[in-house]
Amino acid sequence: MSTAGHTCEACGAPAKLRCPTCLKMALPDAYFCGQDCFKKNWATHKTAHKTTTPAGQQFNPWPGYAFSGKLRPVYPLTPKRAVPEAIPRPDYAADGRPYSEIMVRGSTQIQVLTPKEIEGMRTVCRLSREVLNEGAKVIKVGATTDEIDRVVHDACVERGMYPSPLNYYGFPKSCCTSVNEVICHGIPDQYELQDGDICNLDVSCFYEGLHADLNDTFLVGNVDDAGRKLVETTRKCLDKAIEMVRPGTLYRDVGNVISKVAEAEGYSVVRSYCGHGINGLFHAAPSVPHYAKNKAVGVMKPGHTFTIEPMISEGVWQDEQWPDGWTVVTRDGKRSAQFEETLLVTETGVEVLTANFQ
Ligand SMILES: [Zn+2]
Ligand SMILES: [Zn+2]
Repeated sequence: MSTAGHTCEACGAPAKLRCPTCLKMALPDAYFCGQDCFKKNWATHKTAHKTTTPAGQQFNPWPGYAFSGKLRPVYPLTPKRAVPEAIPRPDYAADGRPYSEIMVRGSTQIQVLTPKEIEGMRTVCRLSREVLNEGAKVIKVGATTDEIDRVVHDACVERGMYPSPLNYYGFPKSCCTSVNEVICHGIPDQYELQDGDICNLDVSCFYEGLHADLNDTFLVGNVDDAGRKLVETTRKCLDKAIEMVRPGTLYRDVGNVISKVAEAEGYSVVRSYCGHGINGLFHAAPSVPHYAKNKAVGVMKPGHTFTIEPMISEGVWQDEQWPDGWTVVTRDGKRSAQFEETLLVTETGVEVLTANFQ
């Protein structure tokens, strides 16, 4: 295949220099013969950043936003899915405000569950793993993340559960789907999974007054070696952290182990989002950071239930949020992977309540 010669947008001379902003936003290439023409033409050219739609993309809802990577939202979102009236729902389901969580915000007191509550956590966690595995079956090249959301929503409802993310602080969908540079909280939309993508599916469900929370990162079609290694290492980070869980372990030490495994492979650990207590509240104390030398409060005790959910990035640890107020991406646009389990501290160690026995 031959390559066409390019001409300068300003003067028409042969050109090789590409506008870096267009490159970053994955807009159609704009060429300039040199810095002089680029600078002279800047006032005119920069409007293209607001008016041009990236190749192969439908519509950019935030023309002024410079995306850190190649992924774009693909709108419109499908309408909010209904949960049958007969299914009990958490306190935020109607207006988006988790009143019971807000009431204890800032408290570092960790709930010790009763034997009955522990039995309830076993049930909601086992059912939620089934839901995640149902969602996983449709993760394929060409599937939309909205289709994954539909399957997760239906699998949840079939089991008499409410999908915890739905309307939590107004979240519009029933699960999170986070592709490539998306660290977490990706909103299922009309994006079609591409060969080589990595896609995290985060499922949380509410059943008989208790929440469960788990996620896995899946390979879509043929993922390059670097992507496979990132996903494998992230799983290893979680497994090594779970090995430390027993009465007496400090919550702050979890991050030391995760960082060691991640940094040995040259990866970084996301700092803005943490594991969390989970019980009658979706997000409760303790906060469980995944990075080293953190100052998390608390000691593990039998009857604590919480998540560990390391987000491990190929490049920098820094994150930023899309203007949708949810989607969290890496600052450098490189990929990030995640795995999550809900755990119970037992008298002797740990029970992985969301474990995949399939
Ligand atoms: Zn989760
Ligand atoms: Zn979580």
